[in-house]
Amino acid sequence: MHRKLAAAALVLAVALMSGCGAAARAADPAAAASDAAGAGVASGAVVPAGSQSSPASPTAAPSPSPPPLPLAGRVVGIDPGHNGGNFSDPGYINQLIWNGRESETCDTTGTETASGFTEASFNFDLASDLRADLIAAGAKVVMTRQDNTSVGPCVTTRAQILNNAHADVAIDIHADGGPAWGRGFTVLEPVADGPNDAVISPSLQFGADVRTAMLGSTSMPESNYYGTDGLITRDDLAGLNLTTVPKVLIECGNMPNSTDAGLLASPAFQQQLARAFTAAIMVFLTGKAG
Ligand code: ZN
Repeated sequence: MHRKLAAAALVLAVALMSGCGAAARAADPAAAASDAAGAGVASGAVVPAGSQSSPASPTAAPSPSPPPLPLAGRVVGIDPGHNGGNFSDPGYINQLIWNGRESETCDTTGTETASGFTEASFNFDLASDLRADLIAAGAKVVMTRQDNTSVGPCVTTRAQILNNAHADVAIDIHADGGPAWGRGFTVLEPVADGPNDAVISPSLQFGADVRTAMLGSTSMPESNYYGTDGLITRDDLAGLNLTTVPKVLIECGNMPNSTDAGLLASPAFQQQLARAFTAAIMVFLTGKAG
């Protein structure tokens, strides 16, 4: 009885829906015929809940659990380079540390645009966007600093924080201070030096994923003054020399260049970068961009 009523309602609904986008699917004559014949159709969507007398479904089907988030169970490290407070404490940031091959300073202040937008601010803004995107995708995120007003930590400590977190992958975020005529991004990749030996190959893979995402999903070109095809190896940076997790450092653009500066200072472009990095991280960790 219910099914005949339902079938009639369905036919009426089909008639009313003609001309809208759903008509083609709803007008499937096979479905209508099957429903009219009462041949075990999935009529639950038509018959109001509770009115179905048929014992065909003695118990309610368990509601399907949502699929796991793509980065559930993964740990991602983010190192936003420099810190806003570094300008105030040269004694701290100029102390010498051992970067795995040689001495370098604990940190620097970083560069800035002609209008005074600092690299430290850019790095932290982008890192915050990236953290939000990664958490939304299910990842646990570890950052090497929590604000843009403090001093440090030293580059050695930053590497240690991400190593201790056993990050599945990590990214050091920077912007360059190159010649004003130069444009574009460069991905810096580690060179085997002992501590990082086990992660050279995956780091190079991740670097390729980041480069692909930058070219495919952002308007920042490959650098025209630094590296080759947007890539370069570096053996003089603690963050790459001391890493025991797959990691690259990216110079997202060239702050002294007016075109790059306009992009880097734009919140919309920062979000574009964050989405590109998230896609690269998903490709690296899961084989799919999401
Ligand atoms: Zn930097």
